[in-house]
Amino acid sequence: MKAVKSYVAHSADKPLEPYQLDRREPEAKDVEIKILYCGVCHSDIHTARNEWGGTMYPVVPGHEIVGTVTRVGSEVSRFKAGDTVGVGCFVDSCGHCKNCKEDNEQYCENGHSQTYNSYLQDHKTITYGGYSTHIVVTEKFVLNVSDKLPLEKVAPLLCAGITTYSPLKHWNVKAGDKLGVVGLGGLGHMAVKIGASMGAEVTVLSRSKSKEKDAQELGAHHFEITTDKSTMERLANSFDFIIDTVSAQHDYNDYLALLNTNGVMIILGVPPTPSDVQAFQLIGGRRSLVGSLVGGIKETQEMLDYCAEHNITSDVEMINIDQINEAYERTLAGDVHYRFVIDMASLK
Ligand code: NAP
Ligand code: ZN
Repeated sequence: MKAVKSYVAHSADKPLEPYQLDRREPEAKDVEIKILYCGVCHSDIHTARNEWGGTMYPVVPGHEIVGTVTRVGSEVSRFKAGDTVGVGCFVDSCGHCKNCKEDNEQYCENGHSQTYNSYLQDHKTITYGGYSTHIVVTEKFVLNVSDKLPLEKVAPLLCAGITTYSPLKHWNVKAGDKLGVVGLGGLGHMAVKIGASMGAEVTVLSRSKSKEKDAQELGAHHFEITTDKSTMERLANSFDFIIDTVSAQHDYNDYLALLNTNGVMIILGVPPTPSDVQAFQLIGGRRSLVGSLVGGIKETQEMLDYCAEHNITSDVEMINIDQINEAYERTLAGDVHYRFVIDMASLK
């Protein structure tokens, strides 16, 4: 065991604070990573505050990890000390179910091991995430990161990047398609960048007028305010695809009405409370309401390589770890431009 510094939530209503965590010594197939940067995903907040239920305290959040390999186990062949690597939302899966065999470990039928607040495949060891100086991860779930791009801006690709890339690829969003992106936060801004890079005509659908200029700089072609009733009426039947990244409860029917015939609305955001869907909104235009969870390891590597090739990174605001509680509050207020990333050198 190795004691490492980390930041932890002890309960839903208390701020995060420093904590000493024991990480396992690297076993034969393990890679030990010194964490350089970790992005702050809204899922970290939902979990730290137990908004989805099931949080196992103390919880160390963080699943947008970029770092340097420090040690590897005897059977590790793809990595060596000094390599730059990434770790995303999960760190293991059963490896033998249909979904794992098809490189969709995120849909592992036996339960994948998420990077934090989850169990390893022994079903008893709890996982702790990236708000920490080091992490130990089995080789198969470690990703190659190009040194070509600024690493702090690469970190958010490990969740926000893959979560938006995967459904855009799955649904074959292509040049000429009209894509609406609801919510301009961490996921939303990556959906804009990646969607635009695939040739889609991108419209940001936001509550925040202040984000209009940013949306255009991120690559959006249009910007619309969703709180304006006449705007929503004008936009009826406008989009081939809508990516919904909203973290709080909202009415799906309002956005389904914006889809064309055969349009697809992809739910990525996970509001803690359920919403009703009116059948008429679906049957009227043969519309689909679908969801998507991050992306498999093979596809995450493909996304990292795609972003390196197309020069796509996240727009980040760097913070020290002791600013994490303030960053949570600002994220909740929609005041994030467009991902907070922790400089782990500040965890001393
Ligand atoms: P974020 O940075 O906080 O962005 C969410 C955005 O949603 C906000 O910036 C805001 O954009 C909009 N919004 C917030 N509250 C709203 C409300 N009440 N009504 C309408 N719009 C609202 O969060 P994130 O990190 O992108 O994560 C977004 C959601 O995706 C979270 O629920 C998270 O848990 C989930 N998630 C899912 C996956 C997956 O695999 N499916 C992966 C990662 C995260 P505007 O100011 O532009 O309106
Ligand atoms: Zn995330």
